[in-house]
Amino acid sequence: MASFVDRVTLHASAGSGGDGCVSVHREKFKPLGGPDGGNGGRGGDVILVVDQGTTTLLDFHHSPHRRATNGSLGYGDWCNGKEGKDLIMPVPNGTVVKDDRGNVLADLVGYGTRFIAAQGGKGGLGNSGLASSKRRAPGFALKGEPGEERTLTLELKSVADIGLIGFPSAGKSSLIAAISAAKPKIADYPFTTLQPNLGVVQAGDMRFTVADVPGLIAGASEGKGLGLEFLRHVERCAALVHVLDCGTLETDRDPVKDFDIIEAELRKYSPEEGTTPLADRPRLIALNKVDLPDGKAMADMVEPIFRERGYEVYQISAASHIGLQELNYAMARIIETARKAEAAQEKARIVLRPVHVGEVGFTVTANEDGSFTVLGEKPVRWVRQTDFANAEAIGYLADRLATLGVERELYKKGAKAQDEVRIGEGENAVIFDWEPTLEAGAELLAGPRGEDRRLESPWQGRYVEDPIEDDLLSDDEIAMQWEYNVADPRTPRIEGEK
Ligand code: GDP
Ligand code: MG
Repeated sequence: MASFVDRVTLHASAGSGGDGCVSVHREKFKPLGGPDGGNGGRGGDVILVVDQGTTTLLDFHHSPHRRATNGSLGYGDWCNGKEGKDLIMPVPNGTVVKDDRGNVLADLVGYGTRFIAAQGGKGGLGNSGLASSKRRAPGFALKGEPGEERTLTLELKSVADIGLIGFPSAGKSSLIAAISAAKPKIADYPFTTLQPNLGVVQAGDMRFTVADVPGLIAGASEGKGLGLEFLRHVERCAALVHVLDCGTLETDRDPVKDFDIIEAELRKYSPEEGTTPLADRPRLIALNKVDLPDGKAMADMVEPIFRERGYEVYQISAASHIGLQELNYAMARIIETARKAEAAQEKARIVLRPVHVGEVGFTVTANEDGSFTVLGEKPVRWVRQTDFANAEAIGYLADRLATLGVERELYKKGAKAQDEVRIGEGENAVIFDWEPTLEAGAELLAGPRGEDRRLESPWQGRYVEDPIEDDLLSDDEIAMQWEYNVADPRTPRIEGEK
């Protein structure tokens, strides 16, 4: 049997950022014109977009590995590398995105809703972007960051107004085919429907969607058989229609028994928090296959039983289109009421992607073996950006860490020169022998950072960290920086002053 495609795994790999370039500008009569190495391009993102024409997750089932392209290298003459191309993948409305631990990251409802499945790596700054008064001609550049790699689970919960529920072969697919333009697969054996089919129904001036929810069987709410997968589809429906088979020849089944079994499953299933329990949704009863003589007799027999229980009952034949008009109008009425109630509630459904934890700051932990571990978004990223073959680049990293306060914290936690310091977690950690930088050393010995020119500068506060900081600078900013380097970048020039 074919496998289900309403839950798939996606391995999304974003593009890596391109490395920055080290280059020195050359012109006639100006052999050393300063650093002109451009920045690496940003890596492409992997993006999910809710698309009207997409109804299944089948594509991901066939090719679960998706990759966006890398940014390219920066090069000389202040040229930045090209950005990687984003990979944009259409998903059906109602796709729920979960991480590998099952946490819901996003609930994609509404055409055009986007979700970044994996973020492209930033491009590394070229040496022109790294120039400052301290480093007029940096002989290094930052490396591009690796693109994010994420394993996600995509689940499809149909966003339909009406869910058709019933035993396999009750006639759900036939009904949806008869009342809408959708063309679902129809067959004569159980579990014919491998994915929910959505149909759009027009009744008067009401338009609504009907989902053919694949066959429920007893025990579905306990995950038995294929049922639980299917109940997830019903979760979003405002109302349910029981399609009951009045023409079955199986002796141990009759419409009332089928109904009770399915109702029991609905009661046991607990939907997501905040949604109405399935058993509390409005329900209609469609007694199907009344074109058959036996079917008609059965329907006449059970109709009063359901009416007595307080349900609206419709005798229909999906095959010969008996009673469909009346059923359509009944569904339209229920939906109108439900939509009004929903509009009154105004509940936003989109869950935004949680921000990176630990965006600010870092932690230093003293390990039992005498080493120290530094964690935090910035230090870990900076390490990834560093070309360890270049002493100047390592010096720059040390400066950044010192400015962030990592050195001070290491010192506070009792680290001494030559102690092992790991930045990052587990296998990805980079291990250093700690050598306090001059700046940090002076600070540690002499208290406040008296020597630091930045504190005396009227720009104080703006340069708490290195001006280049994190983000790629725009071309304009780089040009500006270049100008500052010609004069003194830390001394603001006043218009008209020489
Ligand atoms: P589902 O599993 O509930 O989606 O059921 P299907 O729509 O696939 O139908 C199962 C079988 O019942 C198919 O052989 C259909 O042709 C048949 N069927 C569905 N509706 C009717 C009906 O109104 N009358 C008759 N005679 N057969 C029907
Ligand atoms: Mg079916």
